[in-house]
Amino acid sequence: MPTEKNKYDKYDVVIVGAGISGLVCGCYLAKANVRVLIVEHHDKPGGYCTSFSRKGYTFDAAVHYLGSCRENEGIIYSILKDHSLLDKINLLRNDPCEKIIMPNETIYIRKDNENTREELKQKFPEEKGNIDRFFNFILSGELLSVIAKTRYISFEKLLNEFFIDPKLKIILSVPIGNLGIAPSKASALASVFLYREYILDGGYYPEGGIQSFPDLLACRFREYGGELLLSHDVSGIIVENRKVMGVKLREGDVIRSNIVVSNADAVNTFEKMTSCGCEESEKIRKLEMSPSAFIVYLGLNTDLEKVMERHFSTWLFSTYDVERCYDTENNYNLGKIDGRGKVFDLDYIICHFPSLIDKKLAPENRSIVRAMLWVKDENGATKYNYEEKIYKKIITKLEKIIPDIEKFIEVKEIAVPRTLNRYTLNSNGSALGLASTVAQVDKNYFPSQTSISGLYLTGHWVTNGIGQSGIPLVAYCGRNLAATLIRNVSN
Ligand SMILES: Cc1cc2nc3c(=O)[nH]c(=O)nc-3n(C[C@H](O)[C@H](O)[C@H](O)COP(=O)(O)OP(=O)(O)OC[C@H]3O[C@@H](n4cnc5c(N)ncnc54)[C@H](O)[C@@H]3O)c2cc1C
Repeated sequence: MPTEKNKYDKYDVVIVGAGISGLVCGCYLAKANVRVLIVEHHDKPGGYCTSFSRKGYTFDAAVHYLGSCRENEGIIYSILKDHSLLDKINLLRNDPCEKIIMPNETIYIRKDNENTREELKQKFPEEKGNIDRFFNFILSGELLSVIAKTRYISFEKLLNEFFIDPKLKIILSVPIGNLGIAPSKASALASVFLYREYILDGGYYPEGGIQSFPDLLACRFREYGGELLLSHDVSGIIVENRKVMGVKLREGDVIRSNIVVSNADAVNTFEKMTSCGCEESEKIRKLEMSPSAFIVYLGLNTDLEKVMERHFSTWLFSTYDVERCYDTENNYNLGKIDGRGKVFDLDYIICHFPSLIDKKLAPENRSIVRAMLWVKDENGATKYNYEEKIYKKIITKLEKIIPDIEKFIEVKEIAVPRTLNRYTLNSNGSALGLASTVAQVDKNYFPSQTSISGLYLTGHWVTNGIGQSGIPLVAYCGRNLAATLIRNVSN
């Protein structure tokens, strides 16, 4: 046992991880005068919502835009408001927001959903009425009836209830790629939430890069009196008689607290940090994890505004089989890259162009492109130098959007599942925590409250009943947990 060094005070709450969920939870707690310490593995706050710099380019590591920032309605908007941060962040928007390029057509998702609707109606005139019914349903104020209709079915099934045209259904399935799972498995409820809070509302981009958002939360947290310890790992959660007593840091220090909130990966929380044989460790292994990602970050010495319209992302597909593209178990399982290491041709990539919305992210007359695809299970692939092979396939695809792209590349970085794991400690670099499948988006399926007294979870490994991944949902989870804990601490 490490000796207790009294270097740290006793806290009311210790939070493991300064992902967005941990930060939001910490902000509400600290604002209510709860003594909180957040311990973070990385040297910056934000988890997947961080940025990094190379040669004057600011790249967003994973999250590329925020959803749910609608004035007076969005979850992120209300969190910013609660902490008086609205005037400290400049949320930029693009119109169009997203561009979907299919083999035979291109569709834009606009900032204003009326325009997206009109565009779809022009392309699919025989589905006009159904498009209206679908959009009205998604945007309906009667949330209880939306939940009742979507809770136990897949997004594919929901689309079948509204539409006849197979191509329209495929196109509407493309943005479900944000959940990293195939439309036949994706929860209709999580998908409707995604449509409502991101897709049909367009995205919001914090000026200066995605890091500005967690930096703001971290700054406010400290102003409230919270303590944030960066570049430190929690190696164990101390449990005695099924009660939390505090945490151990990798460096040996022990920090006392009767409440510990884990914003960390749930497998690590139960198998490595607590290891007390609780029911969750068995359960978590049986649940489906979201895939990881293969991401290419490029700094280009050309101004992309001369080549394309301003928008956040392009979904580039060379097939209509979106189901197969997002079925990571089969197609993009890196462990199955051909027995001899031959890399498959890519059927899709998702591209982001942050410098088209915030020019200051790149040096003058230069631009940033990020391209990614969901992948799973790197084991077995690493020996084939697969990174370079997939990189080349991605460049070939990018050529379709940016001709001669290779000659503009000034900076190149690649992130693979190991990289995502290294920075966030999510198992296998899982991008979105528990997959938002029909079965796993059920209320209290894997709740914040654990079977160990005083141990709580927050983030994309917790089920909220409406889907678990993405910044708005993890923020919502952190805020709800804080409200519960404030009541507990003050009783
Ligand atoms: C490529 C990619 C693109 C995405 N794009 C978007 C997007 O555009 N918009 C969107 O809303 N969502 C997006 N997501 C999803 C989103 O990033 C996540 O769902 C969300 O950020 C998860 O937040 P979190 O707080 O639950 O956890 P995380 O972001 O995983 O944070 C957990 C934190 O805990 C720390 N930690 C873990 N273990 C320990 C330990 N033992 N000791 C100390 N610290 C520890 C980690 O270092 C990390 O900082 C994307 C994800 C990926 C991977």
